[in-house]
Amino acid sequence: MDLNQKNTLIALGTGTSTGIPMMGCKCPVCSSLDHRDKRLRTSIFIESKHGNKILVDTTPDLRSQFLENKISGVDFVIITHEHSDHVHGIDDLRPLTFGPPVREIPVYCNSETGKILEQRFAYIFNPTRPAIGGGIPRLRLHEVNLLKETKIFDEKFIFFNYPHGHGETMGFLFQKMAYVVDCQEIPEKIVSLLTETKLDLLIIDCLKRGSHSTHLSVERAFNYIKQIKPIRTGLIHMSHDLSHTQLEAMASNEFGSKVFPLYDQQKIFF
Ligand SMILES: [Zn+2]
Ligand SMILES: [Zn+2]
Ligand SMILES: [Zn+2]
Repeated sequence: MDLNQKNTLIALGTGTSTGIPMMGCKCPVCSSLDHRDKRLRTSIFIESKHGNKILVDTTPDLRSQFLENKISGVDFVIITHEHSDHVHGIDDLRPLTFGPPVREIPVYCNSETGKILEQRFAYIFNPTRPAIGGGIPRLRLHEVNLLKETKIFDEKFIFFNYPHGHGETMGFLFQKMAYVVDCQEIPEKIVSLLTETKLDLLIIDCLKRGSHSTHLSVERAFNYIKQIKPIRTGLIHMSHDLSHTQLEAMASNEFGSKVFPLYDQQKIFF
């Protein structure tokens, strides 16, 4: 744990649903030798100043993300939404529940995501017969209240929904940090909440240049940053449209060093 009693955030993955390099693609970003252009599926890990270990999303890259970052435990998991790039590594949590002692990891999400996870991973969340052999990951779903202060393991969160394609993603405010990933637009009420909080750190969706029907583009992410005015902003969930150095230059032209693309395994203290 950091000696200055800060929270530590690790960017476990910063890429879009395909990961970068994308299989079969020979574009300059997918062929780049810059380690910051190698992006696993988007996920963050927070070790709070109280020592709680919080995982946000269980990507198909979870196992390598944990091994590469030497993470050996999780106290609880937050799932932002049910898209495969955010949940399809959920079985990789299994060894963390083996113990001794055998333990159950709580998983927090909104009600819609909870319903879908119960169906898709019925063998975990709704088993009809006892597990035998190696068994199943011992996970328990908890539905969160939105827009209310919610305490999990003594950590205070405010969770909120915003539109993303056919459904909604759940973002959150944790102390002076906010996480807004896979976002089509941020409702005015949430923009106000984040602005009034005077954020130290915003992590925000920034898929590509131009426009996209379910994600924030660079231009739209930058507009929200101008409204919300966090002290620092990390951009996440980038596609192969953007190399790290390109996006870094675009951000620094507008904001100086206050806004920057995140890269895999980057650590930020807040
Ligand atoms: Zn995604
Ligand atoms: Zn490519
Ligand atoms: Zn998504």
